Amino acid sequence: YYNQDTYIYLNGDFVKASEAGADLFGQSLHYGYGAFEGLRAYNTHHGIRIFKAEEHFDRLQQSCEAIHLPYTWSTQQLMDATYELLEKNNLRAAYIRPLVFSGPNMHLTAATTANIMIAAWEWGPYLGQNLLRVCTSTVERPNPKSFPVEAKVSGQYVNAILASNEAIKRGFDEALLLDQDGFVAQASSENLFIEKDFKLYTPPLDQVFPGITRQTVIELCKELHIDVVEKKLSIQDVLEADSAFLSGTASEIIGIKEVNGVTYKEDWEHTIGASIQRKYKKLVLEEENYEVII
Ligand code: PMP
Repeated sequence: YYNQDTYIYLNGDFVKASEAGADLFGQSLHYGYGAFEGLRAYNTHHGIRIFKAEEHFDRLQQSCEAIHLPYTWSTQQLMDATYELLEKNNLRAAYIRPLVFSGPNMHLTAATTANIMIAAWEWGPYLGQNLLRVCTSTVERPNPKSFPVEAKVSGQYVNAILASNEAIKRGFDEALLLDQDGFVAQASSENLFIEKDFKLYTPPLDQVFPGITRQTVIELCKELHIDVVEKKLSIQDVLEADSAFLSGTASEIIGIKEVNGVTYKEDWEHTIGASIQRKYKKLVLEEENYEVII
């Protein structure tokens, strides 16, 4: 992620990653009380473009507000800093990771001070480019009554690590997590779409993370006149679908080959997911005159 020459942005300054430090007595390290984001910059014909940067930094603010972590930065300030960071690190295409973490405090009370760091590094599609073999996980999504599941809060990712670790140990690429009622909610850090009879279905937002890529897929479908239905999905719905795919900034759009050993019959290249995948690539690379029709 970094070497001796890598810069990060830390509380308004650009500093060498290898020389930067964080307080060992902060709630973020001990209790997972921090919030973060994941963005991607693309090397487009028009120059370097961070895809939906404003939406991501707005969501960072909302995540901090959800856990009462002080947030003292503007979206514009952080967007400008991130473009400068890319330039300083000679990055044209990158994954970008802002993290807001608490100042020193060992109490279980809301932090009164917070820090921000932004790092960036080259990162290919997080789950690779091959169709995925996924399994339903024994690890459930956090209960929305015990945790703000719509916020990208550090501690919540212990749940994601447990789920994806279990899947990988069992020989799969990624896990599908169920909600408390046994419906399939999403993958460890991606949203889920299934295709059935030329329509897409995706779980509603009450128990899933409000993915910006999920929203982009919905917008692309509107443009392509493809129906997207937000509906609770049973394991059977997922197994009996024509095809399925995951969406996320890090993973982009990636097709699923099989779930729990059951293979989708539809040739991926002929699925709605594959069309969305092509369209998404063009959108982030600004390869066509794109106007979102809402
Ligand atoms: N679910 C979770 C739990 C995530 O962490 C992410 C990635 N931030 C996603 C879904 C996908 O969200 P996005 O499309 O905004 O990257």
